[in-house]
Amino acid sequence: MTEPEPTYLDYNATAPLRPEARAMIMEVFRHAGNASSLHQAGRNAAARVDRGRRQLASLLNCTPGELVFTSGATEANNLALRASHAAGEALVISAVEHPAVLETAQDLTRDRPELLTKLPVDGDGTVDLEPLREVCAQERLSIVSVMSANNETGVLTDLAPIIKLAHDAGALVHTDATQHVGRIPLDLAELEVDLLSLSAHKFGGPQGVGALFIRRGVPLPYRPLLTGGGQERGWRAGTLNVSGIAGTGAAAEAARLNLVQEMQRVGTLRTLLESELKRRVPGCRINGAGTRRLPGVSSVTFPGAPADAVLAAMPEVAASEGSACASGAPTPSHVLLAMGLNRDDADATVRFSLGHATTEDDVHHAIEATVRAVMHVRTAMAAEAEP
Ligand code: PMP
Repeated sequence: MTEPEPTYLDYNATAPLRPEARAMIMEVFRHAGNASSLHQAGRNAAARVDRGRRQLASLLNCTPGELVFTSGATEANNLALRASHAAGEALVISAVEHPAVLETAQDLTRDRPELLTKLPVDGDGTVDLEPLREVCAQERLSIVSVMSANNETGVLTDLAPIIKLAHDAGALVHTDATQHVGRIPLDLAELEVDLLSLSAHKFGGPQGVGALFIRRGVPLPYRPLLTGGGQERGWRAGTLNVSGIAGTGAAAEAARLNLVQEMQRVGTLRTLLESELKRRVPGCRINGAGTRRLPGVSSVTFPGAPADAVLAAMPEVAASEGSACASGAPTPSHVLLAMGLNRDDADATVRFSLGHATTEDDVHHAIEATVRAVMHVRTAMAAEAEP
């Protein structure tokens, strides 16, 4: 007999493929066709790509020509930073960026680490802009890259003042919006970032597809990561991933059509999860609760109950400790440490993330499993500590 599927509350690691995306991908797989070929099969493939690009542009309110398809947000972040940064210029990021930005920024300033500024955050995960003001006043700044929504806590950044400071200093602004896109509205006609990264698998598209938005007219030095056949206007060589891009478009459209209702529905489920955990698990704390967060993310610290033990005691629920990209690594979450948690509390933090296919039953199931698992771990730890 096969095991029942666990209740899936790990949308920030990856969201389940939306049915609309699956149907589109299967349909594209039925046909051969390279989007660069001139014959009919190639033109059909190119039409699928064009449609996917238009659908994604419509979710973001940008023009299709401002999108470069990539293999995901890791590549989009690399392209954004590596294309904009020039040796000897200062670079500003936040202390809570995903490793795809953090490591890339560190790599770019390896020879002169003093050129990299990491903006600290307060206890709620809100970015402190003071060091940005100082850098703007003193250095020649190439790019400011601050994520719009944090993958571990869901905390949202107010990007407007960052954009103003950076633009006044003549710098470009990039945002890693991987956790934001398709979850809550994002309007690139209003949000004046120059560059924005996203990843399809976070909003119900396939894994291995992402995009970098490059605003038209932005003076970006032409430095592609991959050179070759000149696809994507030279920004990203390689045969286009027709099925992946078409599936991304279908997922983007499905997300766009229900964005506001879904936001409210998922927000209500998150409130249910958090209020029940707070009521039933003594001492538990919600990280980032004092500020604006994505509706579907809940980072919960259970003092005295290490997250690895809690998750092992509730295999019927798929949730995450820290972020999935860092899991397996013994280091505690840099995001939670930057928010001022001590190491024990950071290690005792579970991330639940909800999304388009999450039901109220899923949440009730997760509440029961979590309460039981935390109590079990706390009891076991207390017994171990007995002399
Ligand atoms: N940035 C953020 C904020 C993320 O959450 C992730 C995925 N964990 C990435 C970048 C990397 O995305 P991808 O898996 O598409 O490379």
